[in-house]
Amino acid sequence: MPIPEETIQQILGSTDIIELIEGYFPLQKKGQDYWACCPFHSEKTPSFKVSASRQGYYCFGCQAKGNAIGFVMEYESIDFPSAVRRLADRAGIAIKEDEYDKKTTKENLLKKKIIHINQTASLWFHENLLKSNSAEARAAREYLKERKIDIQIAKNWTIGLAPENGNIFINWCKSQGFNNEQMVASGLMSYRDQEEFSKGVYSRFRNRIMFPLHNDYGDTIAFSGRVFTPQNRLAKYVNSPETLAFKKSNVFFGLNKSKRSIAKKESAIICEGQLDLIRCFENGIENVVAPLGTALTEKHVNLLKRFIGQNGEVVLCFDSDSAGYKASLRAYEEISKVGVFIRALQLPDNHDPDLLITNYGPEKFIDLVKSAKAFHEYQIETLSGQLNLNNPRDRIQFANELSITISQVNDPIARDGYINDVAIRIGISADEFRKRVVNSFNKKTSQVSTSTNEPKEHDIINVEQDVEILIKLSLTDADTKKWIRNSININDELKSLKNFDLLSELFKSLPSSEEPEDINAFISSKDSHIATFLNDIIMKDYTHLSLVDAKKSLIRLKIKSLQEKIDLNKTFSRREGISNEEILTITSKVESQRKELLDFKKALTNIDESRD
Ligand SMILES: [Zn+2]
Repeated sequence: MPIPEETIQQILGSTDIIELIEGYFPLQKKGQDYWACCPFHSEKTPSFKVSASRQGYYCFGCQAKGNAIGFVMEYESIDFPSAVRRLADRAGIAIKEDEYDKKTTKENLLKKKIIHINQTASLWFHENLLKSNSAEARAAREYLKERKIDIQIAKNWTIGLAPENGNIFINWCKSQGFNNEQMVASGLMSYRDQEEFSKGVYSRFRNRIMFPLHNDYGDTIAFSGRVFTPQNRLAKYVNSPETLAFKKSNVFFGLNKSKRSIAKKESAIICEGQLDLIRCFENGIENVVAPLGTALTEKHVNLLKRFIGQNGEVVLCFDSDSAGYKASLRAYEEISKVGVFIRALQLPDNHDPDLLITNYGPEKFIDLVKSAKAFHEYQIETLSGQLNLNNPRDRIQFANELSITISQVNDPIARDGYINDVAIRIGISADEFRKRVVNSFNKKTSQVSTSTNEPKEHDIINVEQDVEILIKLSLTDADTKKWIRNSININDELKSLKNFDLLSELFKSLPSSEEPEDINAFISSKDSHIATFLNDIIMKDYTHLSLVDAKKSLIRLKIKSLQEKIDLNKTFSRREGISNEEILTITSKVESQRKELLDFKKALTNIDESRD
């Protein structure tokens, strides 16, 4: 049964579209109407109009239009009944569940379930942290106390604790009526065996302090779990895997709380960690966001821009070490694409915002934000500490690095000002430096146009299970490590694999032992996107795997890559205008590749037989 027309009218009657949309991003009042940059297409000047009298929106750029329900459908990518439901919730109007559910698709239902599971689990973790008498709960409370996170703050952010014994949590989930499939879909559990689901699930988060993650609308969609015991063996933070409800690339920690302040101030401070953000927010600095330990993506930036608005700014607040500087360069590159003003602040050595505010009070941090300089000046300052401007070679490096940054500034007047600034600083003529900027710009655009389909360095790494098994065993299993060191010629044997770069880099420098401390140190030495990826693999429960499994995984990967080559050659030999000579060459190549393939398959069976 569809939702009755009367109910829909009632919902629309109780919803003010201006207030609704301002909950997502700011609108500017001009005359009778309200304006913003359109959320449905990319633009730099506002052509998205919202009318209070008509209770509707219209975009002059892409012709998107509709009422409050239409807006929620478009913006949240949900169907009509879900949008009605959301607005009904907001307005406090009841819709009978069965009327609503009939029209929703299976995927939407699962997404709803995922959010429900994460939401109820967050309350359970929270309760567990505050009330449990277990040793780990006491240790977690002690840890938070030391970090100056009191009970009120823990309540404000629904901070929780995942118990050490994962079964306690699994049993609770079962008591709530969640089945294995739903729990795995929620990202809180994984299957013990990817091929045999009947072997059950395990809890991904064990003995970790849990920070719930929200979309900008406020739904609980995932978690970030933090280790807190001194013998911390694993990655500091682990996030839920991506699910129907959670995509790392467009979620900021805290945005659901900070969006109003960001919109009001037209300014967002980007800091690195969750505790930094909480500390800022709790001390009245509310316009803060934190990405989830991953590099900023275009989606992050577009999301943020909706709240900052056209003339807004971003203040980068990264660690003062070289990793922090690199991260700020990457962030700058992504953010400058949408043309907002970017400043960066210099934190004192060995201080993050959390420590700074705890030690010196919020005023000190507010001062640093106020005096944060335009990005190129921050860069000059940082590089001046690393390079010697009296040395000609250093001076060239200095000029090159800055020319890249400045070439990304869209506004010509600002760009020219920066060029003059830097030229004076390095002691070369403005014209000379301008040439470098133009060169950097051209290099950049030619790279972009030729490599749009290439995966970016910071893209989420996605690999097949065999690669995961190889990596996991190479780190945690002594036999496998010995085999890799002694019997694998990395350049020869792995060359054909799709993940050659990744694997060869890892295998060339494996940690010295299987002790968790060594593995942890090894992982921490990697770039953050690689570290996150490795941690996710270490967390996976590939139990009972040993050297034979690593051997099999490698052979399966070789088979796959060979098969792809054979397929490619076959396609190639069928293309138009190919000469007979070429066909012959390809055929003989395919022939030898087939032989190689058979050998691999035989090797695979041999391993299996010797195992039985
Ligand atoms: Zn539009």
